[in-house]
Amino acid sequence: MTQVHRFDAVVVGAGGAGLWAALELARDKVNCAVVSKLYPTRSHTGTAQGGIGAALGNLEEDHWEWHMFDTVKGGDYLTDQDAAEILAREAIETVYELEHMGLPFNRTPEGKIDQRRFGGHTHHHGQGPVRRSCFAADRTGHMILQTLYQQCIKHGTRFFDEFQVVDLIIENGVCGGVVALEILTGELHIFHAKAVIVAAGGFGKIFKITSNALSLTGDPVAMLYRHGYPLEDMEFFQFHPTGIYKMGILMSEAARGEGGVLINDTGERFMARYAPTLMDLAPRDMISRYMQQEIAEGRGIKGGDYLYLDIRPESINKYKSAPGGKQVTEKELREKLPDIIEMMELYLGVDPMKELVPTQPTAHYAMGGMPTDVDGRVIIDEKNTVLPGLYAAGECACVSVHGANRLGTNSLVDILVFGRRSGRAAAEYVRRADYPTLPPDADAGVRAEVNHLFDNAGKESAAEVRRKMQDVMTAQCGVFRTGTGLEQVKQTLGELKTCYRNIAIQDHTKKFNTELLEALELGYMLDLAEVTAYSAAARTESRGAHAREDYPKRDDANWLKHTLAYKRDGKIEMKYKPVVISRFEPKERKY
Ligand SMILES: Cc1cc2nc3c(=O)[nH]c(=O)nc-3n(C[C@H](O)[C@H](O)[C@H](O)COP(=O)(O)OP(=O)(O)OC[C@H]3O[C@@H](n4cnc5c(N)ncnc54)[C@H](O)[C@@H]3O)c2cc1C
Repeated sequence: MTQVHRFDAVVVGAGGAGLWAALELARDKVNCAVVSKLYPTRSHTGTAQGGIGAALGNLEEDHWEWHMFDTVKGGDYLTDQDAAEILAREAIETVYELEHMGLPFNRTPEGKIDQRRFGGHTHHHGQGPVRRSCFAADRTGHMILQTLYQQCIKHGTRFFDEFQVVDLIIENGVCGGVVALEILTGELHIFHAKAVIVAAGGFGKIFKITSNALSLTGDPVAMLYRHGYPLEDMEFFQFHPTGIYKMGILMSEAARGEGGVLINDTGERFMARYAPTLMDLAPRDMISRYMQQEIAEGRGIKGGDYLYLDIRPESINKYKSAPGGKQVTEKELREKLPDIIEMMELYLGVDPMKELVPTQPTAHYAMGGMPTDVDGRVIIDEKNTVLPGLYAAGECACVSVHGANRLGTNSLVDILVFGRRSGRAAAEYVRRADYPTLPPDADAGVRAEVNHLFDNAGKESAAEVRRKMQDVMTAQCGVFRTGTGLEQVKQTLGELKTCYRNIAIQDHTKKFNTELLEALELGYMLDLAEVTAYSAAARTESRGAHAREDYPKRDDANWLKHTLAYKRDGKIEMKYKPVVISRFEPKERKY
């Protein structure tokens, strides 16, 4: 029997975005529940190493307007500038609020919050790198998650941990709650609500080499798409330059912020050739492309498909690449990058204080997702029509504050600033809204899907379908794309979707059936991979993280617009909506 719960608001996801949204609801005395497939402090926000960007100006001159400019330029001018202005302005109060909640930031000798450099963050509109990233060693996300979770507990927030949302309830164009599967028992639960805030994180697991955790499968994003509503800018997926070779595990940009450099097979610091001003701290989309180019031109290490990250103190001192050209010591680096150094030792058996570290680009961050306005309300068309009762914030949402390419440290700002705004907007909404009528068969679709997976006598294996999807996405929908390659991706994904209807599940028990959950997640990922490939094939230009070898130029005349991809009658339909431009006219990107 499906249990029915009633809350004024339900938050799906307990990462940074979900927890801050829940905190705002609790502060406003809204009867609210947080439903999360992971135990909250295991959310991916906890792995963020590098820091959170805010123009505090603690070490050198800085202004929110420079932060906004960098965000817009970093996003290759696809960024909505009203959202970027909010991000840059509210970043400052957000960091101070975290400080007041007790987050243990690193400090300067005078006791101010310490700040470090990060890719694409500059002073005077691109004149040189600026120290803008606030950090707690290389555990910033971990500290954010712990701090916000404590605050939610203090405010008595109700948590449903290890409940996996398997459908959004949307009837007559209004959202009225979610259906969730309790992982421990296998029972279904309906959460009937006036407002649902989706904060379910990214979906990097559609790729083979990725920095993303296993849980990042984008479930509710796919659910919205299945209900016939659009997903925005899905062709823009960020590849981070420094994944651990073959594993994709992230070595944060903080390593380069502290002075680390990238080296090719000839021992050259090749970024000096491509981006003379910012060099190894140019935006991620550019560095990933130049790395692939070095590899394609035969300057990968030993002719292979990887390069080296060099964070040896002697190299940093030789290149004078540390902030301010300062000399650094091993002790300082170990204090500022403890976890990254440990990961290099653990996973690669390399001592990065003495040896070079093999690295390759890794699928990292979804710029696209559920379209929202600046208060987190999900919008459903190019006229910005709101879907009442549904909100989204964090990586699963597309405000769009990152445009075609996100800058490092801007996601932590995004999840907190827009998590908070969506919490506030939802609190205001539930006060005046009535409970939407709960459809009598709200869980019927999910039951049918689960029964199909259990009863299916098919011979296909979910693991095999997943592997093939990840392989083709990395090979043909990765750092570089071509029209022909994308057609192949579309075809392969079509075939894999047919196979998916015939996958067999061995485990027929109800309790903790991870095989069933992974099969459901695979279904969502196939949808997200498909919409990514179709959106990428349609966009015949190169912008930010979307690099088409057959259309190498940015084409503002035709493509300065956001994609909205809909699933309609089994087909994928593309619509487009204009970019919001306020202060900065699009220019060529040079660093
Ligand atoms: C290794 C790594 C390092 C990073 N470093 C930085 C950095 O230094 N600075 C920066 O700005 N950004 C960084 N990022 C990006 C940033 O951390 C993420 O984009 C951000 O934390 C996402 O937060 P979120 O709240 O949107 O989602 P997450 O923190 O990913 O949380 C998602 C939540 O949704 C829940 N969920 C998902 N699906 C379901 C479902 N079906 N049912 C119920 N619950 C569900 C999960 O349980 C989880 O609680 C990094 C990312 C990675 C992977």
